[in-house]
Amino acid sequence: MSQLIDLQQEQLAENISEVRRRIAHAAEKVGRDPTEITLVAVSKTRPVELIEIAYNLGITDFGENRVQEALPKIAQMRPQSSQALRWHLIGHLQSNKVSKVVEPFTWVQSVDSVHLAQLLHRHAEELGKRLPILLEVNVAGEESKAGIAPGDVLELARQVVALSALEVRGLMTVAPLVPDPEEVRPVFRGLRRLRDRLRDEVPASSWPDLSMGMTDDYSVAIEEGATIVRVGRGIFGQRPTISFPHEQKKP
Ligand SMILES: *Cc1c(COP(=O)(O)O)cnc(C)c1O
Repeated sequence: MSQLIDLQQEQLAENISEVRRRIAHAAEKVGRDPTEITLVAVSKTRPVELIEIAYNLGITDFGENRVQEALPKIAQMRPQSSQALRWHLIGHLQSNKVSKVVEPFTWVQSVDSVHLAQLLHRHAEELGKRLPILLEVNVAGEESKAGIAPGDVLELARQVVALSALEVRGLMTVAPLVPDPEEVRPVFRGLRRLRDRLRDEVPASSWPDLSMGMTDDYSVAIEEGATIVRVGRGIFGQRPTISFPHEQKKP
């Protein structure tokens, strides 16, 4: 192994244990079991070499937000996988890409329309697969963000649970970028309350999952009930470019 890879491995190992330590701390603070929280390492913009190192350090779940970028990476990682390896689509999905994602991705976290859900259902059914999905909610109502309005969730939920090839597991949100994570606590609490309402009103699913919290705010999200956190920079370091593709709502 080259020295550069050794160095990267050391840094990644350090980052991963730090993230795991903070997850445990946040969980324990509110009396939750840390093992019920899934860490999704967001590997967008990262080369396969780094993903491989993270995988060998025990990371089993990776998040990608662009289908085009993700597919070759998933294909390259495939031969390595003896332990579990799950890919989560966390970015906006265009309907013309649905046929490409159902097989390689384990989860789709960004379902935000009945139309998209129906297409996913159809393709999953063809593959004889039950696809775990989350409904993406734009809790803060930001113009720039994907996701459905909180007021529309109930209706979408009712329609989506009827699609048998989808395993409707819960809700996902991307909170606004703010300097102090305490500022987005109400967003996370809002998503949890919405989930609690769905449990009452759409009992066809038990709505077990809440995917919320990124590098700057996952501790707060866990305190508010996150079962899935999506951490990119906290594991892999700063991204090379200053862009936040998840903020761009594509037509
Ligand atoms: C990029 C991204 C993340 C991770 O962001 P970090 O700030 O690097 O932790 C999480 N969720 C979504 C939807 C993203 O696009």
